[in-house]
Amino acid sequence: MAEYDAIVVGSGFGATVAVSHLAERGMKVLMLERGTWWQTPAHLGVPPTGGPPPLPEWARNQDPPHPVQYWPRPDHEEGLIDLLASIRHRHNRDGLYVYSRFDECDIVSASGVGGGSLIYSNATLQPDSKVLGQIGLDLTDADYAAALKWTTDRRGVLNKVITKIPLPKSRDVMNLGAEDYLYLDRARVHRKAAAAVSQKRGINPPAAWTPLDLAIAEYHEDGLGNADVNKRHTFCERQGRCVLGCLPQARHTLNKTLYRGWLSDPAKGVELRSLSEVRDVTKADGGYTVTYRDHWTADGDEKMVTAPMLFLGAGTLGTNEILLRSREHGLALSDEVGRRFSTNGNFGGFCVDTADTVQSTRGPINTCHADFELSSGQIMIEYPEYVRAYREHGGAHPRRARAGRRVLRVGAPGALRDRDASRLGRQGDPGPPSLPAAYPGHLRGGRLSHRSGGGRQHLLLQLHGAGPGKRTLPARRR
Ligand SMILES: Cc1cc2nc3c(=O)[nH]c(=O)nc-3n(C[C@H](O)[C@H](O)[C@H](O)COP(=O)(O)OP(=O)(O)OC[C@H]3O[C@@H](n4cnc5c(N)ncnc54)[C@H](O)[C@@H]3O)c2cc1C
Ligand code: SF4
Repeated sequence: MAEYDAIVVGSGFGATVAVSHLAERGMKVLMLERGTWWQTPAHLGVPPTGGPPPLPEWARNQDPPHPVQYWPRPDHEEGLIDLLASIRHRHNRDGLYVYSRFDECDIVSASGVGGGSLIYSNATLQPDSKVLGQIGLDLTDADYAAALKWTTDRRGVLNKVITKIPLPKSRDVMNLGAEDYLYLDRARVHRKAAAAVSQKRGINPPAAWTPLDLAIAEYHEDGLGNADVNKRHTFCERQGRCVLGCLPQARHTLNKTLYRGWLSDPAKGVELRSLSEVRDVTKADGGYTVTYRDHWTADGDEKMVTAPMLFLGAGTLGTNEILLRSREHGLALSDEVGRRFSTNGNFGGFCVDTADTVQSTRGPINTCHADFELSSGQIMIEYPEYVRAYREHGGAHPRRARAGRRVLRVGAPGALRDRDASRLGRQGDPGPPSLPAAYPGHLRGGRLSHRSGGGRQHLLLQLHGAGPGKRTLPARRR
């Protein structure tokens, strides 16, 4: 008889939702995650009493102990080296950041317990039903409400963290009147720019500037979620390093959800093996056999485990990689696997010589969006700030500024070619030509088609259009 009722691969959003439903049904679940645990090195006040022990203590007491890594702090030379050491590659299996390079896009994703939630921008947005309809997803407001409930119940209350300091409940975050200065600089400049562009381009209705609901704990004088903040002794300190990991532990990342919800209590029947990289899947009697590399052993020994049910939650790249490898090894799968996926149609660019000086490193990396409804489609502009090292001042270095003005292919999720910028937002965008269909077993490959000149800038803009899913995973090139 199989030891587990189900195997779940990965530990990001998809995998954690699957685990929650399986565990609620009393099933015995094994999670296989290729990355490791990531934590803050900071001490947070007096640890709360009554709950499970702090994660590092729990990890230390497992048999064998689970390895735990600490967020990189690139505040000095040694910290920058730490950050570089956090990039995952074949000789650094426990790295947090995975940078995948293809001919048409570069993609950043995460490797670690909690998946993309460890490095994402914390924004929870209801997807536009028109855009979903284009890819055949008929999700309703009720579906969104159910997902929102899952996230607030399992992770924590969402907050609009858009001001320099936590606001009392009595203040209207959309309209601070004479206290407008309380907004974070970036948010104020973003709002002003959205209004100015709408006016200049005659866009009617003007772009909607929207503070985002963020999966971040915020302290309010009298507000929702304070019990949680007090219990955890932490809230957002506007450190602006969400993609690097939150030192005050204010972000609702899924490593916490998994630990608090299931892993800290063996009676819940969920076991997680970190540093376990799934290679492929085969059909077995009454289920599936999963082969994985156990990176707790020096040589990454291959191991196998079988269960009646299998859920692949290894992210878009990870799941396709496993399926394509499995197909090569005989699993009957469609020829369409690995084709027609989309990178959201995002691209990134830098703003230089902005009219107002912006403290780009303050606050969560993303606090608001501007939505433009154009006749050609919909464009959403965010202003994430990924890299603290960029200079913040009133004027850009003139030589570098020229390079910075280009639309850069940065590691935002799915960056388009420069020339595609003009087509952004067109409904049914034909997208760039497909890449070679052949797939020999691994995704890494492709080339970086141009590098940035390293411009000095104040803001990194990220634009989202509606991509139809036309990309094909490329052949491996070493
Ligand atoms: C910088 C950045 C900012 C973002 N900001 C936002 C935002 O604000 N709001 C939003 O909604 N979305 C945002 N996203 C997108 C969001 O993070 C992803 O859509 C989401 O994480 C996808 O969830 P997933 O479960 O499909 O995969 P992931 O979260 O990527 O999880 C996949 C997991 O599987 C593991 N894995 C992969 N391959 C294997 C293998 N072979 N064996 C075992 N384990 C494996 C990985 O290590 C990872 O832990 C952002 C993404 C990035 C990179
Ligand atoms: S801004 Fe800083 S303190 Fe706030 S959630 Fe992000 S990393 Fe944490």
